[in-house]
Amino acid sequence: MGIKVQGNKIYLPKIGWMRFHNSRAIPTGFTIKAATIRQRQDGWYVSVRIEDKTIPDYILKPLTDIKSVLGCDLGITKLVHLSDGHQVKNPKCATNKKTKRTLKIRQRRVNRKVKGSKNRKKAAVLVGRLHQKISDKRQAYQWEIAGLIASRKVDVIAVEDLNVSGMLKRCRVKVDETTGRFLSNGQSRKKGLNRSISDASWSELIQKIEYMAAKSGKVLIKVNPKHTSQKCNACGHVDASSRDKEKFICVACGHIDHADINAAKNIKELAVSNIASIVCGDSAKLEPRGSKRPKYCKEISARSMSKRVEPGNLSNKDIKAAMS
Ligand SMILES: [Zn+2]
Repeated sequence: MGIKVQGNKIYLPKIGWMRFHNSRAIPTGFTIKAATIRQRQDGWYVSVRIEDKTIPDYILKPLTDIKSVLGCDLGITKLVHLSDGHQVKNPKCATNKKTKRTLKIRQRRVNRKVKGSKNRKKAAVLVGRLHQKISDKRQAYQWEIAGLIASRKVDVIAVEDLNVSGMLKRCRVKVDETTGRFLSNGQSRKKGLNRSISDASWSELIQKIEYMAAKSGKVLIKVNPKHTSQKCNACGHVDASSRDKEKFICVACGHIDHADINAAKNIKELAVSNIASIVCGDSAKLEPRGSKRPKYCKEISARSMSKRVEPGNLSNKDIKAAMS
């Protein structure tokens, strides 16, 4: 301990009193717990952690009281798709055309300067400034979106439990067995996707959503994203060929939806079944999509199929019924 703030001065242990820009006054009743100092391109920043023990913790809604769930599917073309049909655009702070170009030009200016020279350092500062600006923009946007999602009138927010580091892995090296030469493994194409994934920084966004949701008493549930983009939300049929870029057309029942909104609805459904199994106390069901699920799907698919047949066209079932 020993951190003190007085006007525009801060006392840091081992450093002493320092002048700083006091951007936000510490509210009365709070005690300073810790300070974090970090260096960014344009200077040093200090963030102060404060605590007031008289303020109660956020109370999360008990799972038995849950009535509505919102599913969120994270993407690149659109940053978030919600199960209620809303979409959040992706500003692509670092990977848009203009920023990519500026970054390239500034980086090239650094590379052209003599190594170790003053001018090279000056040019490098400009690259760093741009990186900082991108990061600031992304942070601000993510807080805005997290607030927006958390303010929806639902009890639970469901997101995918993403393995982002696994997605960012490089493609496996392909070697021609006879000649021993390296073959194209698609890594150069993947590089662009990797950059877009990093730029979208989903896990940071999920963290912010979790924080904002907790603030308003909502629960965040992470579900296993396996098959959520391939499964039909109407009949439960899983097939990769149902997906045609942005469109989802079920090969089993003909259900048509936006591919990512279909995924968001699946995420919502998974969360609902997870909550149900937790509430019922059946932890065995917690492993989603066991052997029971496909059977249930088949029944539904048969029913919805006969429903979706175009009027005027008799389905096989109708013909059979008419014949008997
Ligand atoms: Zn279907």
